[in-house]
Amino acid sequence: MRILLTGGAGYIGSHTAVALAATGHEVVCFDNLSNSRAEVMDQLETITGQSIPLIVGDIRDRTSLEQAMQSHAIEAVIHFAGLKAVGEAVARPLIYYDNNVRGTLSLIEAMIACSVRTLVFSSSATVYGEPQYLPLDEIHPTSATNPYGRTKLMIEEMLTDIAAADPDWRIAVLRYFNPVGAHESGLIGEDPNGIPNNLMPFISRVASGRLERLSVFGDDYDTPDGTGVRDYIHVTDLAAGHLAALGAISSHNEPISTWNLGTGQGYSVLEMVRAFERVNGVCVPYQIADRRPGDVASCYASPDKAKAELGWEAALGLEDMCSSMWRFERMLATSNSPQATAT
Ligand code: NAD
Ligand code: UDP
Repeated sequence: MRILLTGGAGYIGSHTAVALAATGHEVVCFDNLSNSRAEVMDQLETITGQSIPLIVGDIRDRTSLEQAMQSHAIEAVIHFAGLKAVGEAVARPLIYYDNNVRGTLSLIEAMIACSVRTLVFSSSATVYGEPQYLPLDEIHPTSATNPYGRTKLMIEEMLTDIAAADPDWRIAVLRYFNPVGAHESGLIGEDPNGIPNNLMPFISRVASGRLERLSVFGDDYDTPDGTGVRDYIHVTDLAAGHLAALGAISSHNEPISTWNLGTGQGYSVLEMVRAFERVNGVCVPYQIADRRPGDVASCYASPDKAKAELGWEAALGLEDMCSSMWRFERMLATSNSPQATAT
């Protein structure tokens, strides 16, 4: 298929581009580079041996989306583009509604104008709010605890209405748990601007000395070691989940379906710290700090529906998550060193 990836230059989009290209799909990335760099396309060419086009544009600009879809005869869209920082969303909610909700509305309008009705949407486990039971399955009630989560929920509801109004749509809503890790080459990964909000990029930077120590947000939760438990999923597995979802919606009759993409296995913050140290032979100094407002004790998926309906399940464990992140971190250190810049 010819597939447009909105946000394709970003962390999950770039890994999905690799997976799609490897299976013979034609990929076009559409990204405004607000949280990514055009150089990632060179890395994608090195990894895939193919030149993947990047259209620099904003999803709120419907005309440029339509041009992109028409000129590349696009048949399906995977919609990654969005802002995702919870703290920023709380401080500046309008930017999130504008970018995420209005951006998706513009994308849907452009798709309708171009007669493209196959869509995979990046949602998040955040739509489950405070877990009422674990593991979280797709019928768990949804709610939002912050404006970022509310944009995901609003988009999910919008997509449900659109699919009800026009049964020709084929939409996959994918609720990601905690994506971590990097491509095995070490050439692409997650390199957030500023100080990372998420645990694993923070751990990586502490290990390499770019940050001094990790603050563990709370050690008095109702979990085995008192620290927060999450379902970490390797980004390569996540990318494969998109392929599986695209295959499923292209061949079945439901206008919209929702799947969790997680492993079903929860790990605590301290388990992640120790795994990273053990796998990579590094030291990650940490201190116990106050709980982070809004955090829940435990959150992990039931991956059963994805396994039954998509034939997909995560294959990579903690070892691969930690080693690939470290390879990417070392690659960044080399490319940022004065010596590397000079040569
Ligand atoms: P990312 O920031 O690395 O990638 C998003 C990409 O979208 C970036 O390249 C950015 O430049 C682009 N973008 C943002 N707004 C745009 C706009 N208006 N027009 C065009 N491009 C735009 O983030 P990611 O981690 O790859 O996340 C991808 C998607 O998955 C997001 O929608 C995010 O909310 C969702 N998600 C991510 C996580 C996670 O932990 N990474 C978890 C759950 C859901
Ligand atoms: N966490 C932490 N220190 C950090 C960042 C995160 O202790 O610097 C904890 C956080 O409290 C949670 C887990 O790590 O229990 C995962 O947090 P992350 O922000 O990566 O994901 P999310 O909260 O979105 O699940």
